[in-house]
Parts: sequence; structure tokens; C-alpha cells
Amino acid sequence: MTRVFSGIKPTGHLTLGNYLGAMRQWAAVDQHQADALFCIVDLHALTVDHDPARVRRLSRQAATLLLAAGLDPELCTVFVQSHVDEHARLSYVLECVATDGEMRRMIQYKEKAARERERGGSVRLSLLTYPVLMAADILVYGTDEVPVGDDQAQHVELTRDLAVRFNQRYGHTFVVPQATHPAVAARVMNLQEPTSKMGKSDDAGPGIVCLLDEPDVVRKKVMRAVTDSGRDVVYDRTERPGLGNLLEILAACTGGNPSDLSGVYESYGALKSDTAEAVVEVLRPVQERHRELCADPGFVEGVLGDGAERARAMARPTVDAAYRAIGL
Ligand code: ADP
Repeated sequence: MTRVFSGIKPTGHLTLGNYLGAMRQWAAVDQHQADALFCIVDLHALTVDHDPARVRRLSRQAATLLLAAGLDPELCTVFVQSHVDEHARLSYVLECVATDGEMRRMIQYKEKAARERERGGSVRLSLLTYPVLMAADILVYGTDEVPVGDDQAQHVELTRDLAVRFNQRYGHTFVVPQATHPAVAARVMNLQEPTSKMGKSDDAGPGIVCLLDEPDVVRKKVMRAVTDSGRDVVYDRTERPGLGNLLEILAACTGGNPSDLSGVYESYGALKSDTAEAVVEVLRPVQERHRELCADPGFVEGVLGDGAERARAMARPTVDAAYRAIGL
């Protein structure tokens, strides 16, 4: 059976981007068709300035939301990265086949490091080595497929390079994985700055729809989305990014196609109010289930405990093999 692995960082409140670009596909498709692992990658939350209590709280919230989004612990493994030591153990070995040059070429590193420097902060070494730990997350489970939004494509490509290089130098040890992307909503953009992705953030500004936003908050954010100067509703992601983003969100929520939908609307107002309602409807069942799960914290705890145990049992043989192969 195909082995699937994907992860989510507990660095902020999960967004509509996380849901449409990743979580929904994990729940609807991946957990049914594959032997799937979904991980709250909390070690990755330490690569930039962080508050320990907040990381712990957001990890728990992310786990609860994954279950609320439909991940079923009977069908897949849900766990927290730091509960399984094998990720960090393998990461070190992979650092010994990666080069600093290839790390410095990673787009996310360049962007995030520039942001840290702009703020006058220093750049943690873990921000540079983050893609190696991500490679370890994937390779340690003999993963075949990594379902991610296309913002992660470069990191999965690096993972493949490291696996191939290790196998060539030290003998076949790792499965070489590939990324898979959802057909629609591979990249949901910020409603206020439609040229940057809708990423997690602390204060979740007006351009970011969080999975736990109340319906009226969602409506307000979508109705205030930046559109373009034209008047007609056309689908052109490059020339009309604001409009393109709204059409893609509506398409992802209703199962339609952005180009077809552009023909249905004559005004931005109608497009925005339909998009707002479609988002509210998509989030409604997730929010309901989230409320139920919050009332039963022992259940989430139990799922994460079982998940870590299952994950450890899968990871250990790979790490043992890699250590042997590299000479330890
Ligand atoms: P973030 O960028 O929000 O910190 P993560 O790195 O935790 O997200 O990614 C979790 C998953 O959500 C990944 O598969 C990522 O590709 C996907 N994802 C994150 N943001 C978006 C977005 N705006 N559009 C589509 N997919 C996204």
C-alpha cells in the first residue's frame, strides 16, 4: 500500500489555505487510499522566535483541528513530531549528505531569513537546516507520496535529492518520495495581498481566514478582500490576482472550476458574497466537530499517544538501517 506522510506546523492558527490546500485532501482522499501519517511538526515551530507555552497550545489545537477536519485515527496515524525521537536522529545523518549551498538556495529560507534580519533579529541555524529535518520526517517512514500545497514543492525536491544521494553513496536505504498537489487551491493567497500566500500568523490579519473564525468574521474578511482595478469578472491569476484568488477559493469550496465561475458573475459584490457563504459552509462542520472534541480532551490525548507509538515502530527500522549504512 502507498505510504503517505504530511505535516503541519503549529506556528499560528490554521487557515483556510491549510484546509483547502492540504487537510481536506488528507481527510477526503489520502487516509482512505493509503497508509497515511499526519504529523504536527512542532520541532519546525522552533526555527523562529517562539513562546514555549504557545507552541504547546497550538500543537494541541492543530491536532484537534486535524481530527475535526475528518482525519480518522482508525484509518491513519496522527501524532506529534517531538514525541518520536527518530526524526531528529535521522536529521543529523541527512545533514551529513546535504550541503550548506543547497540549504541557502531554499526560497523559504531566503524569505524568512530576510524577514528576521529586517526585524533586527538573528537567524537561527535551525531555519537553515529546517528542510533537512523535513526530509527526515518524510524519509523515516519510507514515504512514497507527500501531499502538500505547492509552496512546499522545493523542499520535497530536496528530500528526493538527499534520498538519491544517500542511496548512491551508502547503499539503498530510502524510498524516493514524490510530492502530490491538490487539483484546485494548491495555493490560497492572502485576501489583502493576493500575491503572497495565506500563511499562518499570530494576529491573523484581515487577509487571513482562520479555521476557527466565526461566520461573521469570515464574511467581513471576504467582503473586504482586495480586488483589482478592472470591473469585469475574469479569471486571470497573473494579471488579476485578487479576483483569481476569490474565484479559486469559491471553486475549491463548491467543487466548480474558476474559469467557468468567472462567467457566472457580473459584479465583484455578488462574487464576494457567494464566496463568503461558500467558505462559511465549508468551515461549519469542521467548527462543530472541533467544539465536540474540545469537550473531550482525553480523546485527543489518546489519539496522539497511540499515534506516536505506531509512528515509532515504523520509524525505528529505517533509522537503524541508515545508521548502519553510514558507518555507525
Ligand atoms: P504554513 O505555511 O501555514 O505555516 P505549513 O507549513 O504548516 O503551513 O503547511 C501545512 C500544509 O498546508 C502544507 O501542505 C502546505 O503546503 C499547506 N498550505 C499552507 N498554506 C497554504 C496556502 N495558502 N494554500 C495552499 N496550501 C497551503
